[in-house]
Amino acid sequence: MTRKGMHMARPRNNIESLIFEEGATVEVTETNTPVSDYFGRLTFSGDVMLKRLPPDVAMSLAGTIMQGQPLNPMVANTVAGAMKDWALENGATHFCHWFHPLTGSTAEKHDAFLSVNGDGVAIEKFSGNSLIVGEPDASSFPSGGIRDTYEARGYTAWDANSPAFLLTTTDGVTTLCIPTAFASYTGEALDMKTPLIRSVQAVAKQAARILKVFGTDEDVTQVVGTLGCEQEYFLIDQDLFRERLDLVICGRTLIGATPPKGHQLDDHYFGAIPSRVLSYMTEVETRLFELGVPVKTRHNEVAPGQYELAPTFEKTNVAVDHQMVTMHILKDVARKHGFECLIHEKPFAGINGSGKHNNWSLSTDTGVNLFEPKAETHNNLQFLVFLCAVIRAVDKNAELLRASIASAGNDHRLGANEAPPAIMSVFLGEMLTDIIDQLEAGKPRKTVKGGTLDLHADTLSDVPRHAGDRNRTSPFAFTGNKFEFRAVGSTAAVAWPTTVLNTIVAESLDFMAGKLEKEVGKKPTPAKLDAAARSLLKDVIKEHRRVCFDGDGYSAEWAKEAAKRGLPNIRNAAESLPTLKSRLATSLFSKYGVLSARELKARGEVLLEQYCTNLEIEGRTLSTIIHTQVLPAALRAQAELADVVGATQVAGVECPDTEEDLRTLVGRISEMRTGINEVEAALEAPAKNPETHAKWLRTELIPAMDRTRAACDWIESRIPNELWPMPTYAQMLLVGR
Ligand code: ADP
Ligand code: MG
Repeated sequence: MTRKGMHMARPRNNIESLIFEEGATVEVTETNTPVSDYFGRLTFSGDVMLKRLPPDVAMSLAGTIMQGQPLNPMVANTVAGAMKDWALENGATHFCHWFHPLTGSTAEKHDAFLSVNGDGVAIEKFSGNSLIVGEPDASSFPSGGIRDTYEARGYTAWDANSPAFLLTTTDGVTTLCIPTAFASYTGEALDMKTPLIRSVQAVAKQAARILKVFGTDEDVTQVVGTLGCEQEYFLIDQDLFRERLDLVICGRTLIGATPPKGHQLDDHYFGAIPSRVLSYMTEVETRLFELGVPVKTRHNEVAPGQYELAPTFEKTNVAVDHQMVTMHILKDVARKHGFECLIHEKPFAGINGSGKHNNWSLSTDTGVNLFEPKAETHNNLQFLVFLCAVIRAVDKNAELLRASIASAGNDHRLGANEAPPAIMSVFLGEMLTDIIDQLEAGKPRKTVKGGTLDLHADTLSDVPRHAGDRNRTSPFAFTGNKFEFRAVGSTAAVAWPTTVLNTIVAESLDFMAGKLEKEVGKKPTPAKLDAAARSLLKDVIKEHRRVCFDGDGYSAEWAKEAAKRGLPNIRNAAESLPTLKSRLATSLFSKYGVLSARELKARGEVLLEQYCTNLEIEGRTLSTIIHTQVLPAALRAQAELADVVGATQVAGVECPDTEEDLRTLVGRISEMRTGINEVEAALEAPAKNPETHAKWLRTELIPAMDRTRAACDWIESRIPNELWPMPTYAQMLLVGR
């Protein structure tokens, strides 16, 4: 990927233009191929597609991709042939339909291109039919009761909107992956993608009605959803990872004494990226660029060993596929660099966990962002309608939005003093809050401006100042021209929270559009529209502004204030997930054609079952670690201390302090045993149904695990280092990068 060349650089700043003016030339030697040369190299899209498909087929496919036209099955054979040749030339031997089952990760079943015909001659074959549909066995995927184990048939269907890509493992095996939707024989969705696509359709349709009312729909063929997901993760040394059964099995540490230094000094955040980590990040980015993922930002996060990656936003469906690929590549490349990439929401207690900020917006296919406030925001009534539709959606559906991010892992973040609280609220910032105030009081007259920031140093330029500060404690923040859903967990398959968000906003836009259409009637005038919009906004603000909060979301006062405002504060997934069964949720999802009652119920059950299963696995892992690693080490330490006490006393010397140490240690070991007995008892309880079982595990298992851990961590911090049977927090987080 190196190319040498010399060319005249264009001046980039004042100093360079000065040099130019004086007649000097600046020569730049390029040693790296520009990213744009290999960006998307491994995807069947753009130039690759144009070069390999006949123009009419390329046009037809582009119509599906760019304008959402139905897929013409007649083109499938030609596309399949071209895709096969391209894949073979790039070293692939197999293809797979790549989909997002309800497990929360991705699934793929590989088939060889190789076929042997009747004469025993081997040929390379890939038909249009194999491109469009697949028929994987659906019985071993979670279906939430839609399918029984003996009812195996399921189908995958090509999603032409998301480019097929060539995934190469770090060992060099290449597979053609075709993004697909996954449904059961009964036609019901068994995946994350199908409802996501339906939800984008729903929200786009309602948004288009608003544009029509405002007369801004000229040249607009469709509204599209946009999404950009920031991904936080930890890197630890792989050798250390392998010695931690809890990390290997559960993705998080179940025990571990807090090291003396965590992130108290804030010296890791945005710090210089360690060299080995930067090499890793560079390889991750190169591989993602080739796969068409527009990775943009990288930096150290708050906790030691924690990092972040963010792409440029894309159309929702593609962004979601790219997010899944990103998690895969992060993990895959880590192993090559001797790291393990931990994506769990809370790998280490006592220091920050990881989230995934979902930046969400709507835009027209002509490139207008519908959440762009513009300069004189108070007069931008269309924007204010969109904004207030989201405020209304979050307030009306706070419990559902909360449920969309509920998982055993995310329970460690939400409500802890580091991540957005479990109370759903909307941050607007000073400028918008001021406009909302004005709207509520009457006709808004001004937009607060940020002005500039004078740093009082002659050589530093003035900084343009935003009209409002940032707030990192809000679960759902307006950040300039998009909303940022920050409460999403780092392991989440983003399709689901995005589906929920799209659906609740679709309902809200439907409501707003209905009111406006009725008020302006068949003969709209600007004055009628103006009056109708202002009165609607006023009503919506009055009813729903309780959900807006710009203060400190971590504070105890906010929890109290939120309770006063009647906002739900659902602290854990066991309490939250049953919301998916509510009548409100069921009618909402079916009204907008996103999920049928049965599909939604199935999802609720799968999520509850996953919650229970994760907790049970954690409980059993803790039990194994305590019995086979911690207890033997603790007893050895006990024996050593007892020997010291015995030997000292035989020598005729009293040693009350050491005796006391021994007594305390024995006491803690006993507490740990009691704790783990309670854990095991909680695991034995019969599961009547997923809902009551989830609550049982929440109230019985988790506290017992916490008690066990407290005793265990004390033991770890007191017994001799060489007896401790696994890497410590300090070793994993602070050493060896
Ligand atoms: P911040 O730290 O302010 O959150 P980042 O640059 O880390 O900023 O992430 C911002 C994310 O928001 C990026 O992924 C970016 O592409 C995305 N984004 C920006 N504009 C939009 C938009 N209109 N729709 C969706 N996502 C957007
Ligand atoms: Mg962010």
